[in-house]
Amino acid sequence: MSRNYAAAKAKPKYATAQIAVWWDMRDCPIPEGYDARQVRPSIEAAVKKLGYSGPVSITAFADHKQTSEQHLQGLSSTGVAVTHTKSSRICKFMFSDMLEWRGRNPPPATMMLISNQVKDVFSWELARLQQETMYNLFLACSCEPPSNTDLVTSAEWRWESLLDEVKECSETTGESSKPGELTCKPCKLGCQSVESFRKHLSTKKHAVEEARWNCTELDPVTRKWAKNYAAKPEHATAQIAVWWDMEDCPIPEGYDARWVRPSIEEEFKKLGYSGPVSITAYGDVKQAPDRLLLGLSSTGVAVAHATPDVIYMRMSSDMMDWVDDNPPPATIMLITDQMDSFFSRDLVHEQQEDKYNIFLAYSYRPFKMSALVTSAEWLWETLLAVSVSETRRRVLQKCSERSESTGMFSCKVCIDDFKRFDDLRMHLSGDAHAREEAYIISNFQYNERNREHGLIKRVEKEQTFEEESSPGGSCSSS
Ligand SMILES: [Zn+2]
Ligand SMILES: [Zn+2]
Repeated sequence: MSRNYAAAKAKPKYATAQIAVWWDMRDCPIPEGYDARQVRPSIEAAVKKLGYSGPVSITAFADHKQTSEQHLQGLSSTGVAVTHTKSSRICKFMFSDMLEWRGRNPPPATMMLISNQVKDVFSWELARLQQETMYNLFLACSCEPPSNTDLVTSAEWRWESLLDEVKECSETTGESSKPGELTCKPCKLGCQSVESFRKHLSTKKHAVEEARWNCTELDPVTRKWAKNYAAKPEHATAQIAVWWDMEDCPIPEGYDARWVRPSIEEEFKKLGYSGPVSITAYGDVKQAPDRLLLGLSSTGVAVAHATPDVIYMRMSSDMMDWVDDNPPPATIMLITDQMDSFFSRDLVHEQQEDKYNIFLAYSYRPFKMSALVTSAEWLWETLLAVSVSETRRRVLQKCSERSESTGMFSCKVCIDDFKRFDDLRMHLSGDAHAREEAYIISNFQYNERNREHGLIKRVEKEQTFEEESSPGGSCSSS
């Protein structure tokens, strides 16, 4: 599936901020007959068209034994830094360079990647980094712009057309007063001139050093981030909205439904969160006993009837509606086993626009780490097993003494709200609801989507007991 190249105008805070460019010259080489001195002015002209005028730093990564002296001279003389690595390790070094740069350059600033490896190599790690610390992101590639990635970019170019930019502006070359640095990554060596750089790359010492390292994996830095850390001040008293999938994470046999809310709140409190908590429980109300639903409702948990055909879609659209009305700081919690297969893509994108605090609970530990960065995760059963403090016991006692329910009731099949539990029950046994449910069941799209999720769910359940797969692996080298 192809899509168009994005090109949004600069937001004021990025308009004059610096722009750092990581350029993979293996994927996006200098075309035959093209003057290397025009690369910098072309990039500068392209970003200027969108309203960016901040200082631009560019680093060209490649096996520079393959790069002509003329190109090296052209790049260096225009202030483009030149970094040598063998081809298989370009992505690794680009990424570690990005990490280092992010550490030294707090936002606002723009990162630009010139690479065809964004979807396959960078997107997962970068999307996670972006959720932690947000930069404006540009992309150029010599292929189609990547679709279905976790990453949100504000501008994209095709490499070849980007290089033509300067012709439309003026026939300048980007001569710079300060020549670009020439670095050999494997030897961690900086060279003074193109001559000494080329000479170094041909030495035996360099060949030996380069042969020593073979790890090509990206630094798994985001995999090591802490979980369940104490609340940051801006989130400590902010509201917490919980969407709970009772199909995946049901109330265990014999467990008192009135304990769900206080258990959840107690666990939040342990991490320093004391904001108001709203909870909506989604499930097939027709199959659930009254005692359980009334127990939830008596503690202010909203009860939403949703059949397997609609449950994830409704949870997701309710959550996105809520996001529209509730800007950060706030915490979003999902209780579900479908984070990666259903919810994470939308949320990961959302998190690169408006950053929320994210909690997650599941009935089993996911077999792979999500692109979505959470600040706390729980096993559903462990969460329910939390012992509840004396104050909360008293509150709970009071709640359960009330005869009227305090929560809200809704039918997510028909999208209808009810004040009283009896009204929902009556609605669910009526003809109008039966017709709506039958319609949804016969609706091809719903069934199709549901089948997909059923399949993913089965695969995930089968893999529950396997070791957590770790595509980034653990690897430490230069
Ligand atoms: Zn070297
Ligand atoms: Zn209904």
